Amino acid sequence: MNSTNPHNGQVIRSYTAHNGQYIEETLKAAQNRFETWKDVPVAEKSKLLHAMAQQLRRNKHELALLMADEMGKPVAEGEGEIEKCATACEYYADEGPQYLSPEIVKTDASKSWISYEPLGPVLAVMPWNFPFWQVIRFAAPNLLAGNVGILKHASNVSGCSLAIESLFLQAGFPKHVFSSLLVSGKDVEAIIAHPVIKAVTITGSTPAGKSVASTAGKYLKKCVLELGGSDAYVVLADADIKKAAQICTQSRLLNGGQSCIAAKRFIVDKKVRKEFEHEMLEAFKKVKWGDPRDPQNTMGPQARVDLRDQLHEQVLKSVKLGAEILFGGTVDTKSPGAYYPPTILTQVKPGLPAFDEELFGPVAAIIEAEDENDAIRLANQSVFGLGAALFTKDISKAERLASQVQAGSVFINALVKSDARLPFGGIKESGHGRELSYYGLREFLNIKTIYRA
Ligand code: NAP
Repeated sequence: MNSTNPHNGQVIRSYTAHNGQYIEETLKAAQNRFETWKDVPVAEKSKLLHAMAQQLRRNKHELALLMADEMGKPVAEGEGEIEKCATACEYYADEGPQYLSPEIVKTDASKSWISYEPLGPVLAVMPWNFPFWQVIRFAAPNLLAGNVGILKHASNVSGCSLAIESLFLQAGFPKHVFSSLLVSGKDVEAIIAHPVIKAVTITGSTPAGKSVASTAGKYLKKCVLELGGSDAYVVLADADIKKAAQICTQSRLLNGGQSCIAAKRFIVDKKVRKEFEHEMLEAFKKVKWGDPRDPQNTMGPQARVDLRDQLHEQVLKSVKLGAEILFGGTVDTKSPGAYYPPTILTQVKPGLPAFDEELFGPVAAIIEAEDENDAIRLANQSVFGLGAALFTKDISKAERLASQVQAGSVFINALVKSDARLPFGGIKESGHGRELSYYGLREFLNIKTIYRA
């Protein structure tokens, strides 16, 4: 398993994949650890999560450099990601215990209540795009609740995977409360099938999610699916266009455009489309992109050359089918690295990859809408349903329209983001189940009814 620097194409390090015997030993050790971990008082687990937050902050810069080298994230963004992980650990350490306490429910019983109990080892299949955040948002609530975690990270971020395991150990978590396995996607079925594994969560593409979900179904294991998206940002005629274009640009280009909740389709009322395009073009022209270790750059390369090439194919096919390139759209294949320029496509319509598929990179697709009803219709004309944003000065209209949008979250005059206090997840092919907030905390628990006559 190679970690390749997407800035220059050089292999940073090769990792030997864990073999069957190692996997078996790790799963058994996780099960043994669960037998004691589940009974550790929640106050003790909270303290360890606080220690984890400190470990993350102490190592912030080095961890950001590791991300820059393995997947191309600019260092400042990487530091922000680590800070967010620390905050989530603190949130669950402080607020989690109240959501795990037994809940009395008045019935005809002399006493009846709901008890929240851990299930056991949970497998997490994770992506490379937020190599720390995706893992911590699974691990912090689950470890607090008494489950133990097994991580199968994306194969291009093995260094991050091992770093997370050692951070938990340095924070004082007992061995095997959290374990990293260096394995490929094809090993996942056997791990899900293993009797030790009680549930599985995957954050990744929709095809990978379908594969994990069918295996989980076959072996009757609970699963949570956090999959792809093609978030619509709807810009209505009465919006503050300059501000909307700035937020749209920020959301589209953050993390090199490789975020599940990045703005991907910009559905703009025809009365303001030209003005929006002008503002977005100005914002895109200002972006400095290049070496993610250079603090001047706010955008790095794409994570892998094959992903960059796949994105370019989607752009070329969209153009062939009628889209126009307003900015960018060319690849310098002579230079090493996985760079793709900030790109704006306009005249995008249903039937084009830029509308129908997820474009996982810095490519904005502008779609013209007749009016607000048409805009909502276009926003919902997608197999995905992760996030969405609405831009308008009319707040009561925005709140009314928010309920018509088919998505797991709708943000008004703001970019879609995750927050440990709010549930996160999608509908349709963006997956099911929720992470974060108390909904995420309770996904992999036995929500047990106890009734005393
Ligand atoms: P990916 O190729 O689907 O990989 C994600 C993880 O799944 C990796 O660990 C990968 O392992 C594994 N995997 C791939 N195919 C598998 C299979 N058939 N069975 C079991 N495991 C499999 O996705 P990615 O390129 O890393 O990440 C980008 C995708 O993730 C985008 O679609 C994005 O929208 C989505 N995402 C969603 C969220 C969310 O919260 N909804 C958040 C972030 C990203 P290998 O690396 O070994 O192949």
